[in-house]
Amino acid sequence: MLHDLRELYQAVILDHAAHPRNQGKLATATSDQLVHNPSCGDTIHLYLQVIQGRIAAIEFTGSGCTISQASASLLTTVIKGKTMQEALTLADHFSALAMGQAAPKAGLGDAVILTQVMQFPTRIKCATISWWALKQAILTEQEEEA
Ligand code: ZN
Repeated sequence: MLHDLRELYQAVILDHAAHPRNQGKLATATSDQLVHNPSCGDTIHLYLQVIQGRIAAIEFTGSGCTISQASASLLTTVIKGKTMQEALTLADHFSALAMGQAAPKAGLGDAVILTQVMQFPTRIKCATISWWALKQAILTEQEEEA
């Protein structure tokens, strides 16, 4: 059973890495954030379009390892349509879970699979950089609105 679950997790991750969802440079972006993970060489550039406090569209471009690219792809599927506050909360929960801390998994969808990286400390940054980019992009957006 555990072995089957692992294979299922791997299938989801490999699918998102091979066929990234919402990939592109969103022309209508209201905020964007470029992040780099020097320890692995991963780069993620995240683009958000926020309309009336809600993330109406989200796209990313990037390069790097399977975990980093799959994590960004999963993030976009989870975050699209969320309010900025909901997205910030999910980003905090994902980062906490990925570091082995207790946090709610509700709302994270398939992205929760990647919080399993807590078992591989050197890969935690690969899974979390896209969520860090999301958080920075939203904070920038909120500053501009204030
Ligand atoms: Zn990586």
